[in-house]
Amino acid sequence: MLKKILIANRGEIALRITRACKSLGIKTVGVYSTADKDLMHLRFVDEAVCIGPGATSESYLNIPALITAAEITGADAIHPGYGFLSENAEFAETVENSGFTFIGPRPEHIRLMGNKVSAIVAMKKAGVPTVPGCDHAVTPQNALEEAKKIGFPLIVKAASGGGGRGMRIVERVDTLLESVQAAQRDAEMWFGDDTVYMERFLQKPRHVEVQILADGDGHAIHLYDRDCSLQRRHQKVLEEAPAPDLPEQARADILEACVNACKMIQYRGAGTFEFLYEDGEFFFIEMNTRVQVEHPVTEMVTGIDIIEQQIRIASGLGLELQQEDIEIRGHAIECRINAEDPQSFIPSAGKIKEYFVPGGAGIRIDSHIYAGYSIPPYYDSMIAKLIAHGKDRKTAIARLHQALDEMVLTGIKTNIPLHKNVILQDPQFCETAMDIHYLEKHLLKPFSKEDKK
Ligand code: ADP
Repeated sequence: MLKKILIANRGEIALRITRACKSLGIKTVGVYSTADKDLMHLRFVDEAVCIGPGATSESYLNIPALITAAEITGADAIHPGYGFLSENAEFAETVENSGFTFIGPRPEHIRLMGNKVSAIVAMKKAGVPTVPGCDHAVTPQNALEEAKKIGFPLIVKAASGGGGRGMRIVERVDTLLESVQAAQRDAEMWFGDDTVYMERFLQKPRHVEVQILADGDGHAIHLYDRDCSLQRRHQKVLEEAPAPDLPEQARADILEACVNACKMIQYRGAGTFEFLYEDGEFFFIEMNTRVQVEHPVTEMVTGIDIIEQQIRIASGLGLELQQEDIEIRGHAIECRINAEDPQSFIPSAGKIKEYFVPGGAGIRIDSHIYAGYSIPPYYDSMIAKLIAHGKDRKTAIARLHQALDEMVLTGIKTNIPLHKNVILQDPQFCETAMDIHYLEKHLLKPFSKEDKK
């Protein structure tokens, strides 16, 4: 087993990884920027190293600083968490070439999945269904020919894209060329790579994803699925496991396809296959080669600690779990609590005055905040994840609602009113999962002043 892990991240996930290491008896090294010296996990780690100023490019994305921190503390491995360098193949390579274990997949798989075009090609080959589209880059020269094959509406996406950025929906042929050019410019600006591709724009899909674990030697299992359809600007707002109301055969087929793909490429570690699901069919959109923000909902229904499994696999202990060991118990829902104005969505940095954490049966909160903590302006606005588990979806919703009612968080603005007064009160959502446009089209527009309290 690994002995000392450097956690190359911040916030709730750094605390989550610290907890997993402690439960395994592994020593921990925390890193922080000068804007982050008050982070909660730094109180619990064995050692802490300042890696640079607040700007992410100079600290959490600073590869030499992270490697140096691992060297001076004698860590034997690095856990990247999510975001930052977690899907950076060059970082994974540098970590391994410097003599440390990277807690994640092999660099070649990060690279394969980091480019969505190569990911789609590989998944097609492995028998995973993909969105009808082109398997190569699109340029202003070949766009028209490709669009004719796909049909309208279609979506132009960045091959290196992430975070829901830079996607353009094209309804008609006359706006195709300008959309491709604009998408190329956006892709270059956001991701430093102007490669774009096109696929059919699905009208009312759900976002359904599959969690997998694999040992790198051809043994792989799935931990079932999640639904993350409630999104704003292609960013997840609420997630649940298992995905409600899927036809059993279609579910079984997609789970098997994901496991087979992992076996085929000899994938290592935890990963998520993301799909759009429409009218009984699944279409692969991308694979995330890291732990996801929403991993707790899967942990709640399966009882498996995904971070612990990542560490065991990276330690070379293999995957002791067999598919028959994995059973779903009940239903879990997570809401992402962001420090932002619930109406304008503008981030709300500042000092937390009062903080009371809800509890009771089936409630879990993953968060690093506390009363008196000041949220720095440099980082993502997500400050907590509130998760409710119950024997069925109805119970999970009721528990989540009660927990949000109990939660006290003052001094900053948050999106708690959106969860409490809008989403969890919506009869259609309470009935079943809705499509990816539902939140923006039906719930955010009529979100009135009354609901903001
Ligand atoms: P990113 O890596 O930027 O998150 P994804 O490819 O995972 O991008 O897509 C994010 C979201 O964008 C999806 O969950 C979905 O809401 C929307 N989306 C992506 N591709 C399509 C498509 N072909 N049709 C309809 N919506 C799409």
